[in-house]
Amino acid sequence: MPLMDDMHQQLRTKTLLSQAKEYAFKYLEGLNDMDVFPLENALKNLDAFDEELSLETGSADAILKQLHLKGAPATVAQSGGRYFGFVNGSSIPVSMAVKWISDVWDQNGGLFNTSPINSKLESVCERWLVDIFNLPKETVAGFVSGTSMANFSGLAAARYQLLKNLGWDFNEKGLNGAPAIRIVAHNQVHSSIRKTLVLLGFGKVDIEWIESDSQGRMCLDKIPTLDATCLVILQAGNANTGSFDHFDSICNLANACNAWVHIDGAFGLWAAASKSLSHLTKGIEKADSWAVDGHKTLNTPYDSGIVLCKHPQSLINAMQATGEYLVFSEQRDPLLYTSEMSKRSRAIELWATLKYLGKQGIDELVSGMHAQAIAIRNGLRQSGFEIVNDVVFNQVLVALEDDQKTNSVVNYIQNSGEAWLGGSKWQGRAVIRISLCSWVTTSADIERTIALFKKAKEKLL
Ligand SMILES: *Cc1c(COP(=O)(O)O)cnc(C)c1O
Repeated sequence: MPLMDDMHQQLRTKTLLSQAKEYAFKYLEGLNDMDVFPLENALKNLDAFDEELSLETGSADAILKQLHLKGAPATVAQSGGRYFGFVNGSSIPVSMAVKWISDVWDQNGGLFNTSPINSKLESVCERWLVDIFNLPKETVAGFVSGTSMANFSGLAAARYQLLKNLGWDFNEKGLNGAPAIRIVAHNQVHSSIRKTLVLLGFGKVDIEWIESDSQGRMCLDKIPTLDATCLVILQAGNANTGSFDHFDSICNLANACNAWVHIDGAFGLWAAASKSLSHLTKGIEKADSWAVDGHKTLNTPYDSGIVLCKHPQSLINAMQATGEYLVFSEQRDPLLYTSEMSKRSRAIELWATLKYLGKQGIDELVSGMHAQAIAIRNGLRQSGFEIVNDVVFNQVLVALEDDQKTNSVVNYIQNSGEAWLGGSKWQGRAVIRISLCSWVTTSADIERTIALFKKAKEKLL
């Protein structure tokens, strides 16, 4: 059958899509029992993909089958209940379902004219997020791939505006010869901030590194005198300890001299949506830009990040790079707020997730992660493990007497298939890093993980 006819038939009969659905359901059904990280055999089976691209058209059925049989076992079961690595969320069923639909729609989300529905849902999400985080009414949002790009966008807006305030049109004159910007950040910034700064033309030497305290918060008494050339970078949720900077005090200092404050709140900004945890984000509304993920704490599917900016024109000018770009369009054109043009309509599943959970559900999700972090902290402490951090949010750092023992527990758990978590370094010490970031995790999963820690200690030490 000629190629195009073949594809038309696939669409018409839908057998291919039905088969995909069946494989996906099988995956979901096995999720709780599969190895949380693929073990040796599953990894070995990946060799099946080392083939030359054939000259002839392949078989769509065989492609699905290969993925199901050899690909699925080599996935990480992070949408299950015992994945505690990095800060990786699961995905809420309605967001998964809506993403399937929007995949079929295949919208180019760049313009109102390429997708009115995406444009509308971006506007709605923007309004809802500003409300949830309690940010200034004029705040606009750009929907990007993750917090890395959200940080990039927020810092680009800052660079544009700070230079503008100093009489320098960056879009016209570039960075060569521009007035110096003082970047004030603490030594605990996430690696994505460093990456972003380099992409924006700032090296390590351009940063005034501020000391941080035992929990990874910027030390207030180490902050230099700020001025209108300063870009201050703060953090809501330290990737190790989960700690939050002192936003209120630092923003007051910055606002008094017209410095710009950017907050990297990849997973932690969501604390603002929880009644019992919002004390952690006190003062965030005094900042100028914020970066946050949908795909971490909120448990939307990947890729979902949001940049929020209190100064619409700073973000738009930075992203469009065509000088003063005033937008008086009746409709929202999403590409004005991001570095991309053609883009996935990721606001669709973000909208569905927010609408499904509602304010109460978001609170329950976020405070539930904190409660689980406390439960695992207590359980491990009772079993003789040392807890290294103050568990203020969803991160728990665990250590044994020496680094070697700590690392061997990490290895044991990683190779067990029962759970997965990462090792990290905290203040020169090896630690085990547990991130509670999934709606799927139950108290039984927590119990089983605590038991796994005990087993590791008994086996190894
Ligand atoms: C995960 C994370 C990032 C990067 O976000 P991506 O969504 O992976 O791009 C930035 N900052 C912090 C604090 C994070 O935890």
